Amino acid sequence: MPHALVVAEIAEDGKVKKATLAAVSFAKKARPAVGGSFSILVLGGSARAAAAELAGYGAAKVLVCEDPSLAKYTAEHYAPTVAEVGKTFSLVVATATSEGKDLMPRVAARLDAAYAGDCADVLVDGTSLRYKRPMYAGNAFGTVELTTPIHVATARQSEFDPAAPSGGSSPIEAVPKVAPGAAASRVEVVSLEAVKSERPELTEARVVVSGGRALKEQFFQVLEPLAQALGAAIGASRAAVDAGYAPGDYQVGQTGKIVAPELYVAIGISGAIQHIAGMKSSKVIVAINKDAEAPIFQIADYGLVADLFQAVPALTAELKKRKP
Ligand SMILES: Cc1cc2nc3c(=O)[nH]c(=O)nc-3n(C[C@H](O)[C@H](O)[C@H](O)COP(=O)(O)OP(=O)(O)OC[C@H]3O[C@@H](n4cnc5c(N)ncnc54)[C@H](O)[C@@H]3O)c2cc1C
Repeated sequence: MPHALVVAEIAEDGKVKKATLAAVSFAKKARPAVGGSFSILVLGGSARAAAAELAGYGAAKVLVCEDPSLAKYTAEHYAPTVAEVGKTFSLVVATATSEGKDLMPRVAARLDAAYAGDCADVLVDGTSLRYKRPMYAGNAFGTVELTTPIHVATARQSEFDPAAPSGGSSPIEAVPKVAPGAAASRVEVVSLEAVKSERPELTEARVVVSGGRALKEQFFQVLEPLAQALGAAIGASRAAVDAGYAPGDYQVGQTGKIVAPELYVAIGISGAIQHIAGMKSSKVIVAINKDAEAPIFQIADYGLVADLFQAVPALTAELKKRKP
């Protein structure tokens, strides 16, 4: 019996979200303590194609629950099936995306299982697992033990490299949908108003250009050409979002998205701990800020003390010149 279960996440277009591969890496790392193998569960309105995508990652099985009522994600519809499948596993893990963070506490409650959210690491000690997770807004890390027979966890995407295909082809097996409880009848997805952008998705991008409150109403006017020149996604601080300069799903940080691109350019962002919690694992950090004492410079690999309204257009122009 496989003993770790990864709950996969599917995008609007029916493809597996790259974020899922962080949870696969987590399960692979935990594997020695939980029976040596893992399976993957895919739920959705048309989940079979996504299941086939996941068959090459070394799972004992890829379990598929396909049902029209699962076409649009809600925790109320997904949790009963995940919990039913998960009850024969000792670890149930998803990536700590918005969906994973929404779903897994509910799964844990249904399984009467302890929950370790947003894990930065999983530590194997014989047959025991311990989970390293952030505390105090990411200022400290604690290592926790879960004492229930089943553990439920979410893996921080920035801390687990996406699993690479390991060859082979896992058997794909259908599992039935479990009827949701009364709560599901009170929840309905009416429509999804996704921000349409030609830029890459924030959590998947190799380069992120992020702006803060300092950009004011010129947020996109200043950042868009730079993002274009770098092929980057655009992110924002919470202050920029709260002020209405950028949409909410651009927010990077403790209460926004966690990103770990190869290059993160922080423009007019002070570097509050809650912002840093969402981007500090970026490979190279560049900061542009007119205040030389801004805390962002403490974690930046490259810093430019300058007025962004002059520096960013100049940088953009230079990058455009160098483009082949
Ligand atoms: C519970 C909680 C959760 C939070 N979660 C998040 C989160 O997820 N993400 C997040 O970002 N924040 C979060 N915050 C808010 C966080 O504490 C900060 O308030 C916020 O990050 C500040 O955003 P900022 O850097 O854009 O603005 P500010 O702190 O106002 O900084 C603006 C910066 O721009 C610089 N600047 C101004 N003009 C120029 C110019 N012309 N050229 C160059 N530089 C200039 C200034 O020197 C300054 O450093 C949270 C707060 C709390 C309490």
